[in-house]
Amino acid sequence: MNDGINRGDFLINFRHELHRHPELSTKEFETTRRLRTILEEAKVELLPVDLPTGVFARIQGAKPGPTIALRSDIDALPILEKSGVPYVSENPGVMHACGHDFHMAVILGATLSLNERKADLAGTLIVLFQPAEETGVGAKSVLESGVLENVSAIFGFHNDPSLPVGALGTKAGALTAAVDRFAIQIHGAGAHGAKPNEGKDPLLVVAQIIQDFQTIVSRNLAPDAHAVVSITQIHGGNTWNVIPEEAMLEGTVRTFSRADRAFIETRIRAILAGLAIANDVTIDLDWFGNCPSVFNDEKWTALALEVSKEMGYDTRVVKETAIGEDFAYYQEAIPGCFVMIGSGGPYELHDPRFRLDDQALLPAVDYFVRFIEKIGEESQR
Ligand SMILES: [Zn+2]
Ligand SMILES: [Zn+2]
Repeated sequence: MNDGINRGDFLINFRHELHRHPELSTKEFETTRRLRTILEEAKVELLPVDLPTGVFARIQGAKPGPTIALRSDIDALPILEKSGVPYVSENPGVMHACGHDFHMAVILGATLSLNERKADLAGTLIVLFQPAEETGVGAKSVLESGVLENVSAIFGFHNDPSLPVGALGTKAGALTAAVDRFAIQIHGAGAHGAKPNEGKDPLLVVAQIIQDFQTIVSRNLAPDAHAVVSITQIHGGNTWNVIPEEAMLEGTVRTFSRADRAFIETRIRAILAGLAIANDVTIDLDWFGNCPSVFNDEKWTALALEVSKEMGYDTRVVKETAIGEDFAYYQEAIPGCFVMIGSGGPYELHDPRFRLDDQALLPAVDYFVRFIEKIGEESQR
């Protein structure tokens, strides 16, 4: 795999092989085996990590320098593929519709190249082929495994079908939304529809909750803040002449800053506590904190944009995107940068017709090789 053409063919073929054999989150056993086999053949050092799936490697540069990490996700989605590509999924109902096959091929390519050049490399690179991104549990399990101890910066990417091939975009600060879900149960007292004074009407409380929640963004956050509070389902009552005993609501909160995220949860809890007293009912809240916002460090983002330009990418500072991405969990503990690499569309991520342009693969490999080398070089100054 020394010349560019062979390397490109090898990586494209490997991506197609992964695409034919997609596996669901935490079930990526064959994918793990395929990655391990290639890394072992190339004599890349593999790290013993106590997780059923995923592959973890280390490249020890000859010169001293920082310990940093590079991450790919490896899982696929429960989608019946309709992309029409010749290397269509042979596991019906499961599809690499988020392009994690592409992510693996890129990070594998960068790992193989960097391992060949480790005599010139400064510092230590930990490579993560992380399971279970789509279910939001993979990054957390990798963090808990301890493999990231001593890692001072972490990097990763997602393919972006809304950007053309040859474009790379990112931004400092929040890049993706933090996604939270809430469920509210109101316990009132049932009564005859004609005698509301004998009950405690939970449906009236539902109406108050909806109104009050809509003041959180509009009357508490600054006009230029980005946040969404949506109530998305309501259930209560089952006939026309009975006030029900209970009602429930469910909804979601999307935020782009840690402060807004914490503030909205606090306001929701305060509003519900107040409404419970005002209406003499009991209100239970279940809060399901999903992944936080991918939040890029300023220094590393500047370097990512600099290397992107150096490598000839159409380099863009992009807007926040509402997708969730569990890379965010790493960035709660370790600074880093996540970038979006154009994959050319026309179909969005998670669409059964989603397909990727292989032309995007080698430039992405070369970008990460240069980026990791450059971090080592800068540490020598
Ligand atoms: Zn996805
Ligand atoms: Zn994804």
